[in-house]
Amino acid sequence: MTTFAMPESIVLRWAQTPGMTELEPYRRAGGYEAARRVAAGELAPEAVIEALVASGLRGKGGAGFPTGQKWKFIPRQAPVTYVVVNGDEGEPCTFKDRTLLEGAPHLLIEGVLIAALTVGARKAYVYLRREFYRARRTLEAALEQARAAGLVGRGVFGSARDVEIVVHSGAGAYIAGEETALLESLEGRRALPRLRPPFPAQAGLYQRPTLLNNVETLCHVPVILTLGPERYKDYGPPALFSVSGHVVRPGVYEAPLGVKLRSLIFDYAGGLRPGRRFKAAFPGGSSSMPLVADHLDVPMDYDSLRVLGSMLGSAAVIVIDDSADMVEIIARTVEFYREESCGKCTPCREGTIWATQVLERILHGRGRPEDLALLEGIARGMTGTCFCPLGESVPPSLVASLRHFRDEYERYIAGATRGH
Ligand code: SF4
Repeated sequence: MTTFAMPESIVLRWAQTPGMTELEPYRRAGGYEAARRVAAGELAPEAVIEALVASGLRGKGGAGFPTGQKWKFIPRQAPVTYVVVNGDEGEPCTFKDRTLLEGAPHLLIEGVLIAALTVGARKAYVYLRREFYRARRTLEAALEQARAAGLVGRGVFGSARDVEIVVHSGAGAYIAGEETALLESLEGRRALPRLRPPFPAQAGLYQRPTLLNNVETLCHVPVILTLGPERYKDYGPPALFSVSGHVVRPGVYEAPLGVKLRSLIFDYAGGLRPGRRFKAAFPGGSSSMPLVADHLDVPMDYDSLRVLGSMLGSAAVIVIDDSADMVEIIARTVEFYREESCGKCTPCREGTIWATQVLERILHGRGRPEDLALLEGIARGMTGTCFCPLGESVPPSLVASLRHFRDEYERYIAGATRGH
């Protein structure tokens, strides 16, 4: 019998090694050396960006945009530039950023410092999800240590460069994870997405050029500069997956990007509960189209999942076994988006309400045979018409469930028809 050996982790290990919330153990392990080299001018901004481009790092918050490219977009000569960290992590069943914030706050601070020094920002904001109380305490304590050691604030690492880092808690809205809505919230307004262009790189926070990256993305940056992009790529490149649902060992796992879905579930997360069969999995949080057993060997990377009509998103793998009722799961998922819809555009605001009503009717034994075509029609009406990705997340799951689990919908409706 072969035993699965988990590959060595190079990012997550910082959060798994005891003591990494403290400055000195982090520095003894080589931490802040990459940021020091950038502050000292040993690594020029162009070299940092080239390393990121060569590493293939892509945004880990959901959109998967190439990070080096994003850093290149920030105009160098702008008088004021900001770095904003998206730590909202509101996607259901995503918990990798929280793991990093609570276990390796200095890794994030170092990533923020490198970002700010590279794009010429003197101020960075870390926008945290409201419920991240422990993460906020841990991060603020780490920031205090870094400030006292001269690594944050005025003249970082003894250089002439200032970088202040401010932690800000959101107000508990899922939509604030969308980058332009996050900027609105940070400026003190309701979190409503902005029309793009202009993009944040041109006119972001307070209409100034703004580099926006997610927590995990920035945590990869010091690792890339320390190892070099080629060695970093030898590890996969690595990605963090939050695996939850009906698996024996839910948790955060670092695996090579492109790991098979089957391996994540059965090797990393210990497989399904005894006696259960695989039914479906959301590969990238509840916003991604669920996959079925035929897809177990799909490589978990941006392009392979997009070909299937799904997405890697926040790499939150939600595993569902045969004990679950798919109609109920989709109803709860759509209800979540109805709750979180900001109401700015009609297809999302009305579509999520309407779809939830129809799904509830089916679940409560009052479904009509024509309701399935009605749900498909609502999904069609929302596709490509919503203002932001929140509304666009609903149709793929709805349509996939109607395609792969139609028999479950039909059983509800047949029961309702018999009952009348
Ligand atoms: Fe708001 Fe939904 Fe429209 Fe996005 S898609 S702007 S969340 S109403």
